Amino acid sequence: MPIDPNFQANRVATTFENLKVWKNKISNLGIYGTNVAVDFDLCVGDGACIEVCPTNVFDWQGVGADRKALPSRERDCIYCFGCEAVCPKFAIRVSKP
Ligand code: SF4
Repeated sequence: MPIDPNFQANRVATTFENLKVWKNKISNLGIYGTNVAVDFDLCVGDGACIEVCPTNVFDWQGVGADRKALPSRERDCIYCFGCEAVCPKFAIRVSKP
């Protein structure tokens, strides 16, 4: 199942550093970010989004097999949608504010 495109309506936001984290009853880790949103419950940490992003939006969060792509600098996104296209789990949703 891909990231919920309506996650802002279907979940409640908390915050982590400068990002919102969107959770509901069935989420574990939650969705990190808003305009560049990564579902940490789907992310397998393959790093494709980190490699493709032309503006260096993502950082690694965590280490080893548990690492995830954190959209730390979502404000720098230029909406090329490259990260959405390469994610093998469809874990990323990019939307203009
Ligand atoms: S849409 Fe493009 S610029 Fe924005 S986070 Fe994804 S790869 Fe980076």
